[in-house]
Amino acid sequence: MPEARESVSRKLLGRLRETLAQETAGQARLDRITDLIAGSLGTDVCSIYLFRDSETLELCATHGLKPEAVHKTRMRLGEGLVGRVARDGRIVNTANAPAEPGFRFMPETGEERFSSFIGVPVQRLGETLGVLVTQTHEPRRFTEDEVYALEVVAMVLAEMAELGAFIGEGAALGALHQRPVLFRGISGQEGTAEGHVWLHEPRVVVTNPIADDPEAEKGRLREALDTLRLSVDEMLNSVASGDKEQMQVLETYRMFANSRGWIRRMEEAIESGLSAEAAVEKEQTTARSRLTKVPDTYLRERLHDLDDLSNRLLRILTGQGNHTGAEMPADPVLVARNIGPGELLDYGRSLRGIVLEEGSVGSHAAIVARALAIPLVINAGPITTEALNGDPIMVDGDEGIVHLRPDENVAAAFRDKTAMQAEAQKRYATIRHKPCITRDGTRIRLTMNAGLMADLPSLESSGADGVGLFRTELQFLVLNKVPKRGELAALYRRVMDAARGKTVVFRTLDIGSDKVLPYMKPQDEPNPAMGWRAIRVGLDKPGVLRMQLQALIRAAAGRPLHVMFPFIAQFDEFRAAREQLDRALERESRLNHPLPCEIHVGAMLETPSIAFAPRQFFEMADFISIGGNDLKQFFFAADRENERVRRRYDTLNVSFLNFLEGIINRCSEIGTPLSFCGEDAGRPLEALCFAAMGLRALSMRPASIGPVKHMLMSHDLKELRNVIDEARRSGAQSVRPAVREWLRKTANQPPAGAGPA
Ligand code: PEP
Ligand code: MG
Repeated sequence: MPEARESVSRKLLGRLRETLAQETAGQARLDRITDLIAGSLGTDVCSIYLFRDSETLELCATHGLKPEAVHKTRMRLGEGLVGRVARDGRIVNTANAPAEPGFRFMPETGEERFSSFIGVPVQRLGETLGVLVTQTHEPRRFTEDEVYALEVVAMVLAEMAELGAFIGEGAALGALHQRPVLFRGISGQEGTAEGHVWLHEPRVVVTNPIADDPEAEKGRLREALDTLRLSVDEMLNSVASGDKEQMQVLETYRMFANSRGWIRRMEEAIESGLSAEAAVEKEQTTARSRLTKVPDTYLRERLHDLDDLSNRLLRILTGQGNHTGAEMPADPVLVARNIGPGELLDYGRSLRGIVLEEGSVGSHAAIVARALAIPLVINAGPITTEALNGDPIMVDGDEGIVHLRPDENVAAAFRDKTAMQAEAQKRYATIRHKPCITRDGTRIRLTMNAGLMADLPSLESSGADGVGLFRTELQFLVLNKVPKRGELAALYRRVMDAARGKTVVFRTLDIGSDKVLPYMKPQDEPNPAMGWRAIRVGLDKPGVLRMQLQALIRAAAGRPLHVMFPFIAQFDEFRAAREQLDRALERESRLNHPLPCEIHVGAMLETPSIAFAPRQFFEMADFISIGGNDLKQFFFAADRENERVRRRYDTLNVSFLNFLEGIINRCSEIGTPLSFCGEDAGRPLEALCFAAMGLRALSMRPASIGPVKHMLMSHDLKELRNVIDEARRSGAQSVRPAVREWLRKTANQPPAGAGPA
């Protein structure tokens, strides 16, 4: 590294360290830092601007501008040169500031006509906290070495801010990790939760960003790198040779761990006066800021790998393993960039809520969170860089909103909402063991959707009549290999035991689309939701389907068995799937295994095509369940995973209701039992309309049973049917407004049979 560069930054850092070591309050510290930077670089002005809120920067300390302007002068993100640096996260270095695009003269700061300007973003791990600025009258461009020195100082500033070094009167920087922040994400699982942050991967805290013995620091870095390489090799050895994907990731790790460029850049940072930890973080920050700008998914993945590797290296250097000594709060809300389904299951129901930066509604983590009924918000901004272990947090899974360190007003409103929900739960408890009979005397069967053994206790607590949909893919998703037949049979047996004679409808494996098994070769399909999925995979590669059917037959052994095939789009698929079941039964019988005493074989109606299938299909199916999530997406051609269109078409749209009516009529003519098991069945208003249209069985998440039952028991389906039909005749697009109006008029009717006995 060039000597000049080294000496500029080393000198500056040396003085900075002295300043930071002095017992001064937050603001005085910031003031001294600006003095010392201006002094060291011989500039007229040095200022520190920090974010007041996510849109506004505030002048927090200055050498050279009017002291009265401190904490008064503010600018919006993107405004002026300072705002531009903050917005783009990139340095602006110019000898002629007024000629730069976006330049804004700020007389209120006593700013004279300075010619040169350099603004360096104060960043920590990709998050911009503010801008460090120096200016001179004399036109000059700052040298590469000076720029480097300012970058290093900016990084130390960010690091110190993280440690709360500038907390003090008016210093916005110190308040960064204390201010309330709202994150708007997407709802992954409804419900509300209040608790304290538990970071899945706690951030490593670097307490010593500056070091004065570069040789010793380089030695520490080398040692840590050796340990890192060893651990990557160990991981590689422990991966099963068939697991190509994991091997590839680890090979990339190994490549990075040996990358000369990466190591050289970290050594350079050490020579400039940083400690080994700070040097790793500096590189990580650069990689993260690139990460946000790279459009290529492959490259982004690689940068993620590098980020992960840097975290590992930091943990080795600081000795802060995954266990930082912090204790899990009693009411943990898990905050993570992303999490695998297996890890989430490890936490189990101990979590109050989950907030993820990434993920999708159909991701494995979301499926598990839903199965565990833990409120989940996904795509929640850069929350892992904001949240600290133990921060108070409130998760609104209904709205997809997260309040981190909420202020009192927000907290009070949130608690009101939760209290109202709790009140409603109490109401539902009073009708839990009553049959669901509407005011006009119609019996509606309410069952629950499940996917884990852990769901089964909800059968009792929710008062469900059985399990209308048991999604079997979860056991496949959480393992790294195909489960064995014996393991599956044991699990299905336990599920049936736990149901204590209530019906459990097992749906055979529905993989593909958004549910990709970790050990399944990913299919590069342009449109996986309409691709090789569910029964299509089952019939083309029948090995797993057969094994699953055998496991189900064995689990039932003398008891009734209900099996349902997903995504049947034409009659032949159902016939072929049934044939597989018949063959499995024959085989089990040959082996003298006890057979189920009754077998009910159903089909999921998830594509419009099957609604128009020949009559014989409806005769052959012992029952049919409408998979509304898929059916609706194909009916309206609106991807259920795409936020832009997912809510665009109302379930109570007249076209969809007309279509449902057709299905209901066909099933009732032929006498095929019909149910609805998509998410809409769990929404009280929708459920009520389905019942009014003639559906007599609805399957939903356990938490929805209470509200849906209450709604159904409080209303007269015949009356509602008239309202719906009238709305359909009126030419309305959706019957929702008319139904809402009717509900408003019939409000406050206690549910039938819920009053005193
Ligand atoms: C559905 O499509 O409505 C359904 C119940 O299946 P899944 O959500 O698992 O695709
Ligand atoms: Mg489906």
